[in-house]
Amino acid sequence: MTETFTAMVIDTVDGKPKGAFREISLADLPDNDVLVEIAYSTVNYKDGLAITGKGRIARRMPMVGGIDLAGTVVESRSPDWKPGDKVVVNGWGLSETEWGAYARYQRVKPEWLIPLPDAFTMEQAMAIGTAGYTAALCVDALEKWGSIKPGAGEVLVTGAAGGVGSVAIALLAARGYVVTASTGRPETHDYLASLGATSFIDRATLAEKGGPLQTERWTGGIDSVGSTTLANALSQTMRGCAIAACGLAGGPDLPATVLPHILRAVTLIGVDSVMASRQQRLTAWSRLARDLDSRKLAAMTRTEPMSNLPQLAEEIIDGKVRGRIVIDVT
Ligand code: NDP
Repeated sequence: MTETFTAMVIDTVDGKPKGAFREISLADLPDNDVLVEIAYSTVNYKDGLAITGKGRIARRMPMVGGIDLAGTVVESRSPDWKPGDKVVVNGWGLSETEWGAYARYQRVKPEWLIPLPDAFTMEQAMAIGTAGYTAALCVDALEKWGSIKPGAGEVLVTGAAGGVGSVAIALLAARGYVVTASTGRPETHDYLASLGATSFIDRATLAEKGGPLQTERWTGGIDSVGSTTLANALSQTMRGCAIAACGLAGGPDLPATVLPHILRAVTLIGVDSVMASRQQRLTAWSRLARDLDSRKLAAMTRTEPMSNLPQLAEEIIDGKVRGRIVIDVT
């Protein structure tokens, strides 16, 4: 087993968090029960915030970054896992309070692991990653709410060309929902149409402050942008329908009124992937295995070496990444 290996470590530099490569060894890893040899990780928006230091993601230092991993169990003190098992971890505080995925090896808690779904290779599982699994949680939440209907009425997806947005469109279209994509990048319309979007709106129209009760349009929505965009989406949501909100790419504020909620019975569903239950995770991954077309997944993904993490982190925070990035940790 390699003596030392490279990790992307977030630490405090001049009073601020910042990611940099560092050599670590197995002896440095936390004393959790399952040692995993990591093959692939990803870059999500949150990883971008952590590495650039533009968001305070790491809550103790030093912190190995990376919120998603796919790999193979090497050693296990848990009866639930044995060497050779292929596994996935999403969230559970990785890169926040727990050492994460940007390293060849990591020791993790047994309850964080799920088996790699049969439908996917490790690389595909990381092409999905937290962004894709969160998109699946959002679709699950909207279907549970019950206001979206295949072929009837529009479902809004904001931040459409990003990771959550791209997978959300593919999953919704696979079940026959009519998807309207909100993007600030008109050059991505062909790509978004290939994933299943049938109409587009310019994200600038949702970013401008609008009235509290606008023309009713959406039977549901998946929002990864927050702020004025989410406020407008709620104001345009049809009576009794719901928006699943998971992100803050446009800001963490919500300049909204209660009017859509109290006069149109509109619901805002919050979606958190980090602490989602095991059952929620397995349900979301089953949806991905059933509904996510592997050609669409390939079209939205590029694979990069770990050495490119610093520039990829800047790119995702600047809103320049289309779809998903897989990180080859080998
Ligand atoms: P990406 O960067 O891949 O996608 C975000 C998209 O949002 C961009 O592609 C862009 O879409 C749009 N966008 C970016 N900046 C702005 C802006 N200033 N105003 C309006 N739109 C903007 O990120 P992810 O898909 O990985 O994550 C999206 C969001 O969801 C993040 O805030 C992330 O933290 C959150 N998230 C939350 C999770 C949870 O558990 N709650 C889990 C996963 C993600 P376009 O170019 O098409 O306009």
